[in-house]
Parts: sequence; structure tokens; C-alpha cells
Amino acid sequence: MIGRFLSELRARRIVGVRTAEGRVLVPPLEYDPATGEAVTGEYVEVGPAGAVTTWAWVDEPLDAHPLDRPFAWALIELDGADTALLHAVDADNPKAIAAGTRVWPVWKDRPTGHITDISYFVPEVTKIVAPVRTEYRLQAGGALRVFLEGVARGVFLGGRCPSCDQVYVPYRMSCPECGEVIGEPVELPDTGTITTYAINNLPDPRAPQVPFVSAYILLDGADIPMIALVGGVPAHEVRQGMRVRAVWVPPEERTASMASVRWFAPMEPS
Ligand SMILES: [Zn+2]
Repeated sequence: MIGRFLSELRARRIVGVRTAEGRVLVPPLEYDPATGEAVTGEYVEVGPAGAVTTWAWVDEPLDAHPLDRPFAWALIELDGADTALLHAVDADNPKAIAAGTRVWPVWKDRPTGHITDISYFVPEVTKIVAPVRTEYRLQAGGALRVFLEGVARGVFLGGRCPSCDQVYVPYRMSCPECGEVIGEPVELPDTGTITTYAINNLPDPRAPQVPFVSAYILLDGADIPMIALVGGVPAHEVRQGMRVRAVWVPPEERTASMASVRWFAPMEPS
């Protein structure tokens, strides 16, 4: 019985044997320990993965132990088996193992038909660390293109809803309130009021320094604020309600992008 079990191990398979009652014993035994009856002789491949039923942590491995680093002895019920197999589990720390933890065998390079052909078990992979970097290139849609072409000329373009009279900036082609089609853009002044702001302490390629301030600025004549940098003032002096004006880059440097607006700066010394 055990010879078949070890021969299967050499082929990197784990087998159990079926009892007269239909349970699968792993490792296989010649007699069912529950009833004393002879088993059927039907071998059943199980695992190779299974679940820990109980375990004990070994902080200081001994020479005879299968691992030379802290590990767990565990009873492992392999998939398809009705009994548990005792084996070592190589876990990073005791928190990485619990009753129910799924484990997989790590096989020795050259199995020889010995229980040590399974070097140890390891917890199932449940997460990976994969550094990912993604760069985005956004395509301005029709309305945003109109707005950015205005920025390239040094003006902010908004849209006035013919039905509810709300003025939206950046320009958009339909009213989010009433769904009305918005016609020609309207020019807005480059002055406005800070409605809310945040002091940022993490560097940003668009910002001149750390800390920097990003703010919602309600342009004069607009009904919704737009987000922009605030500069020319120490971060701790920025306030809600502060009157600001856009600081544009020189005309020859302007493009159809928000980079044409350096930032908004206070209109009067604060
Ligand atoms: Zn409307």
C-alpha cells in the first residue's frame, strides 16, 4: 500500500485509497482505522492542493526539520481526501497561515519515491505585487477643443444655457441641468473668486513648487467654478473668497492647453 503511495510520489502524484465506506484515506492504509475493515484497493489521485485543518508554528527549526527557517507543521486535507496529511508549510510568518489556508506542494527536484519528495507546502498565491505605470493622452472632445482654443488666444470661453441662463465654464454644448443645446460660446473675464482650495504637499509636474495650492475658481459671470493653480501668494495666505486674476504665459508661448495659464494670483495685496 505504502509502496504504491511512494511510487506515485516519484511521479509527482499523491494518491489515497478508498475504504469500503467510500472515504479516501491519505496516505493510504491497508485497513480502515474507523472500522478495522480492509480497504478496497482502489487508488484515488488527490490534491495536489489542499486546505490546512490545524497547524503549529516552529520558531526555531531543528536539524532534522525539513526547513531551516521558521515554518509550520500542519495537517493538510488534500482536495478529494477525507483524512489529513502531516507536512511542513513554508509561510512567511504565523499570520500567513490559518485553518482553511489553501496550500500547494513544492516538489523536490529529483523525486526518489520518499515522503520528502514533497519538500514542503506553500500557501496558495492570493496576491501579487506588479508595479504598473500608465501614461494617458487625453483627446479633447468638441466642446473642450473650443474652450482650449480660447485659452490659446488668452480668453476663457463659457456656454450660456438659453433656457435656464446658467453659464458653464469650460464651454460645453448642452446644459447638464435642463438638457438644452448651448449655442455660441461667450467670453468670460479672467478674474474670479476662490470658492474652495487645497494646499498640496506632494510634488506635481504642473505645479511650480511644494506646497502649492489648487483651487476652485468661480470666474466672474460663471455659475460653476473651474479648477486651477493659485500662485504668487504664500500657500498659507490663500483664503476662500479671495479675488484672483489669471496669470497668462507670454502670448508666443500659449498653446491650446491649460499650460497657457501659469496660475491665478491675488488681485490686490493680501
Ligand atoms: Zn439649462
